[in-house]
Amino acid sequence: MKAVVVKKIGSFSLEDIGIPEPGDGEVLIETAVTGLCRTDLKIIEVGHRDLVLPRVPGEEVVGTIRALGPGVASRHMDQRVYVYPGTSCGTCKACVQGAENLCHGMQIMGFHRDGGFAEYVIAPLKSTIRIPDGCAFDHAVTAEPLSCCLNALELGGLRPGETIGIWGGGPAGAFLARGARAMGAEATVIEPDAGRHRYHERVSSAPGELRFDVAVVAVGSAQAYQEALARLNPRGRLVVFSGLAKAETEQLLDYNCMHYGEKSIVGAYGCCYRHGEQALQWIHSGRVVVDDLISHRIPLDELERALELVRKRGGMKILLYPRFGADCYRGEQG
Ligand SMILES: [Zn+2]
Repeated sequence: MKAVVVKKIGSFSLEDIGIPEPGDGEVLIETAVTGLCRTDLKIIEVGHRDLVLPRVPGEEVVGTIRALGPGVASRHMDQRVYVYPGTSCGTCKACVQGAENLCHGMQIMGFHRDGGFAEYVIAPLKSTIRIPDGCAFDHAVTAEPLSCCLNALELGGLRPGETIGIWGGGPAGAFLARGARAMGAEATVIEPDAGRHRYHERVSSAPGELRFDVAVVAVGSAQAYQEALARLNPRGRLVVFSGLAKAETEQLLDYNCMHYGEKSIVGAYGCCYRHGEQALQWIHSGRVVVDDLISHRIPLDELERALELVRKRGGMKILLYPRFGADCYRGEQG
């Protein structure tokens, strides 16, 4: 099968490799669509804390089950599924608390095991979620980034009627804003690039005098973090959604601002299985609209062109197609 393989940080190659065989409780999925995100660019260019090489990247995957490992019931054959990218132990403190994304034994597809930048991918059946009939693969695949955003909104303690400021108007910022609005909050995106304003209902180039109950930083910028903390209402919550370069995280916090304002800071990383179920439901029901956020549909063998778009912030959500069936590839837009 055709696959993108990262053997050392800084490069990737398109290779023909064997189709993997599903083990106990696993299924082989024919990849229909893989979402490309900024993390994939990071994985290839500078590596990632959780990355184990060599690796086929791709943690946003939907497709059709084409082979079953031992112990998997035959009724799962040919089911259309979304893949929750994590595999957790189920027994550690984080798992028992319902935060399996923080499991000490977490194995993430595209990081610890091979992901969806390939024609086929292996996943445990228990990590799959059936895609509702009538929900397009193109839409279902965006459940992964949306789930990470739902996790962040949950950790920020966002309540209906509250205001939320989202720093960064890229795909994550858009999913955060739309998820927050679906939860009954008033979301404002802070995005200096006017070219991205058309994707957002309520958007501002700078925070100005605005204040928020919750702030989420979806851009890797120390300045954005400083701004976001300063723009919080009393008892406001700052969600650390985007990682920063190590040097930038030092001396970033204004502890007095937290003390006098009783503000909280909470981290958010990845998502849980239940966020995937919720995201898929919200997308399928139209509670969160995603179609207009898909800016490019690109064949997997043109990955370099797709990465260049991410590098230059030249698109919104970019989808990759390892196979070009008429049902999933409708031609590139935007
Ligand atoms: Zn665990």
